Amino acid sequence: MVKVVKGIKLRLYPNSKQRAQLWQMFGNNRFVWNQMLAMAKTRYQNNPSSKFVDEYGMNNLLKQLKAEYPFLKQSDSSSLQIVDHNLAQAFKMLFKHKGGYPRFKSRRKAKPAYTGKSTCYVKAKRRVKLPKLGSIRTSKTSQLQNSTIKRYTVAYDPTGRYYLSLQIEAEVNVLPKTKQNVGIDVGIADLAITSDSDKYGSFNAKWLEKQVNQWQRKFERRKNRATIATRQWNHNHKMIKVEVNDYQNWQKAKKQKSRYQRKIADKRKDYLHKITTELVKKYDVIVIEDLKAKNLQKNHHLAKSIANASWYQFRTMLEYKCQWYGKRLIIVKPNYTSQICSNCGYASGKKPLEIREWTCPKCGAHHDRDINAAVNILHKGLKAAG
Ligand SMILES: [Zn+2]
Repeated sequence: MVKVVKGIKLRLYPNSKQRAQLWQMFGNNRFVWNQMLAMAKTRYQNNPSSKFVDEYGMNNLLKQLKAEYPFLKQSDSSSLQIVDHNLAQAFKMLFKHKGGYPRFKSRRKAKPAYTGKSTCYVKAKRRVKLPKLGSIRTSKTSQLQNSTIKRYTVAYDPTGRYYLSLQIEAEVNVLPKTKQNVGIDVGIADLAITSDSDKYGSFNAKWLEKQVNQWQRKFERRKNRATIATRQWNHNHKMIKVEVNDYQNWQKAKKQKSRYQRKIADKRKDYLHKITTELVKKYDVIVIEDLKAKNLQKNHHLAKSIANASWYQFRTMLEYKCQWYGKRLIIVKPNYTSQICSNCGYASGKKPLEIREWTCPKCGAHHDRDINAAVNILHKGLKAAG
């Protein structure tokens, strides 16, 4: 058994009373941030040599603020302390010249969310208990078994949904050892090719991508139309003015677009989880290339950016899963892995990407380009590991 920290995201289904409470809490967070920031600014203006109010000082001021504005008592108090912490942190970064001056949060632009760290626990299969809100309906909580919730963030998504992101500490079982090692090459047509000649195809969701593009076009068209209609109306009516935002149609299109985008992201994640879990179960040592250095100049720009996102997630998942389950991940530099014959070690020089198969001029071994590279990656990793 090993203890690990995990991030888990659940859907939240607040009832109407809880929704009202949540919006109050989102607003309170913004309010406290803005009040503390205004205080720091005024203090500095009045006396530039005055000492900066740190997190502890802000938490003290918070008590006075609560007495003055009783609506703050409707918030999860740990969330307001986290606001203080974040603001103090932002100032620290500013003093170290690593960040800009903290900005005021506007109702329009700030993400409706709050983070807390009080006691929060699973109440039933689809229920979690949150401070101030009480028992709240969620998606399945089965992932939370044998774990402690350390932090929780409630957020409202632009698609109109509520989410609960949890940071939990959980115990996981180490996977049994298999005495098998593998090298993995990543690519665009296939996401991963192993030294055991397995190929995992790239993730694709053509239908969903088509939907995203369609809604994006609708969104642009509708927004354009709303802008023109607003201008015309305001030109003809001096008394009653309208705003672009009064036309709801284009916002609906925006929501649809992000809904499909999220579906793609979720599906891709599921797909990558499936592959990485399979690999971690099957092998004790996994060797991959350092993807940042991988040379892909010849590939189409879009395909590259999509593949990049997948690779990054693929690597991150392998990293933490190896750690959780007691396996080993080795990362090697990608130099020459596609040029050397994995059978005899002969370096036959650079090959253009279109060449998928080749025969070694020295030993006569016939190679699939990617599998050969995966075998070289494995050799390189094992050599580095000693
Ligand atoms: Zn050879």
